[in-house]
Amino acid sequence: LFISLEGIDGSGKSTQARRLADHLRAIGRNPVLTREPGGAPGAEEIRRLLVEGDPDRWSPETEILLFTAARRDHLERTIRPALAGGRDVVTDRFADSTRVYQGATRGDLRGLVDAIHADAIGVEPDLTLILDMDPEVALSRGLARKSGEDRFEEFGLPFQQKLRAGFRALAQEFPDRCVLIDAQADEDTVTAAIAAAIPAAADR
Ligand code: ATP
Ligand code: C5P
Repeated sequence: LFISLEGIDGSGKSTQARRLADHLRAIGRNPVLTREPGGAPGAEEIRRLLVEGDPDRWSPETEILLFTAARRDHLERTIRPALAGGRDVVTDRFADSTRVYQGATRGDLRGLVDAIHADAIGVEPDLTLILDMDPEVALSRGLARKSGEDRFEEFGLPFQQKLRAGFRALAQEFPDRCVLIDAQADEDTVTAAIAAAIPAAADR
C-alpha cells in the first residue's frame, strides 16, 4: 500500500505518520516511513533549497518545478523500490500538497501542477489521509519545526485557512482515494480513525 498523509501545517501529519507506521508493524507489515519535500538524499538537498533562504528568489512556477524534482527523486529512490519490494510506504505529504500549496493559493497554477505531475510523476497514493482541522488550533499546538525550516510560517492564518479549504476540496475531487480525518481529536483518537481507514486487506 502507498499511503500519504496531507493537511495544513501543524495538523499532526508527522505524529500520525509515525503512529501509522507503528500500527502497520503491529499487524505484521513492514512499512517505509518517509516524507516530502525530501525522503531521499537528493530530494533532501532540494528540500533545503526550498525551506531555507529567501523564498522570493523563486517564482511560483520555479517552486513547482523544484517540489516536483524532489518528488521525482523521492519516487525513484525510495517509493518505487519499497513498493517493488512488497513494502508499504507511508509518506508525510505527497503531490496533493503541491496541488494545494503551489496550485491553489497563489493564483491559479493548478493546471501547471497537474501537467507537470502527469509527465514527471504519474502515480497517486492508494490512500490519502487528509488531516483536517481549524488552523487556529493547529497554531496553538505549536509547530514542531526545526530552526531554519520556518520560512513558510510567515504565511499566517489566512493562508492556512485557504490551505484547509484546498485540502477539503481535494477530498471531494478524489473521493476514491481520499479520506478526511478529524485531526482536532487527541492523538489516540486520530490514530484509531486512521487505522479504521486502512483497507481490511492490509490486516492480513
Ligand atoms: P508540520 O507540517 O508543521 O511539519 P505536522 O502536520 O507534521 O506539522 P506534527 O509535527 O505532527 O504536525 O504536530 C504538530 C504539533 O502538535 C506537535 O507539537 C505535536 O506534538 C502536536 N500534536 C500532534 N497531534 C496532536 C493531537 N492530536 N493533539 C494535540 N497535539 C498534537
Ligand atoms: O511538512 P513540512 O513541515 O516538512 O514542510 C516544510 C515546509 O514546506 C512547511 O513550511 C510547508 O508549509 C512547506 N510546504 C510548501 N509546499 C509544499 C509542501 C510543503 O510550501 N508542497
